[in-house]
Amino acid sequence: MSDLGFSWPAGRRAAAAFTFDVDAESCALAHDPSSADRMSLMTHQSYGPRVAVPRLLGILADHGVSATFFVPGYTAEQHPGMVRAIVEAGHEIGHHGYLHENMLGLDPAAEAAVLDRGLDVLRDVAGVVPTGYRAPWWEMNWHTPALLADRGFVYDSSLLDGDRPYRMAAGAGTLVEIPVDWALDDWEQYAFFPGWTGSGVIEDPAKARDLWAGEARAHHRLGGCFVLTNHPFLSGRPGRATALDELIDLVVGFEGMWVTTLGEIAEQARRTCTDTWTHHRPELPAPAGVVPHREENP
Ligand SMILES: [Zn+2]
Repeated sequence: MSDLGFSWPAGRRAAAAFTFDVDAESCALAHDPSSADRMSLMTHQSYGPRVAVPRLLGILADHGVSATFFVPGYTAEQHPGMVRAIVEAGHEIGHHGYLHENMLGLDPAAEAAVLDRGLDVLRDVAGVVPTGYRAPWWEMNWHTPALLADRGFVYDSSLLDGDRPYRMAAGAGTLVEIPVDWALDDWEQYAFFPGWTGSGVIEDPAKARDLWAGEARAHHRLGGCFVLTNHPFLSGRPGRATALDELIDLVVGFEGMWVTTLGEIAEQARRTCTDTWTHHRPELPAPAGVVPHREENP
């Protein structure tokens, strides 16, 4: 894929966005509703809104960095004060499902109902109409971009096929995509809860920081868009938040690095992209056993 006409603002050579998926209890409940019975698991998740988000807001304020927080509707209902605090601190709120549903396989009507429910809650709780969407578990259906464009979203940040933003076809309209990367997600570094997720290996925050710093340096050198995805219940713990603080300190010091929200980056893409990328669902080949035998090729 070419750059499709995209360019950074004058004086900027690359961008970095610090993004936080405020899943709290929702992702565990979506995975298994009986998680509600597990008091300890629920507190592992509610650590995000109760303890981690205030800490992370403080770190962002120290660096003067505006971030993007993707908030499931259920999280907003359960923790309305936290969501309002994010808004009052000047950060962006994005859509992240209602109960962090895995959308994969949902038909368009069912997925639309989830999207609308999430929109209603963010409006009612925080007075926010999000322009950005991130699919729970980064799972998009081929029909999802059209549903987002129909609802006035400007961008999505769930796909994995680029180092910079691009404009993509979305039904009758278009959408900006700001791609993500599993290497830039804290779940793979830190997530562990017995009986739910993780291998039991929990990485050293210094190792995660250095991994992400290397990617940020490479994006800076190549003119890319570094998008880090952190979950407050994971990255808001003391040692990890300290490592993230150090990473932000490093990245804001890169010359010409635009450290901003995904919403700002999406607006830049919308202004400058001169071409549009169209995704296609792969056509599966016929199974070998049903390929017609060719008499003429002995
Ligand atoms: Zn999530």
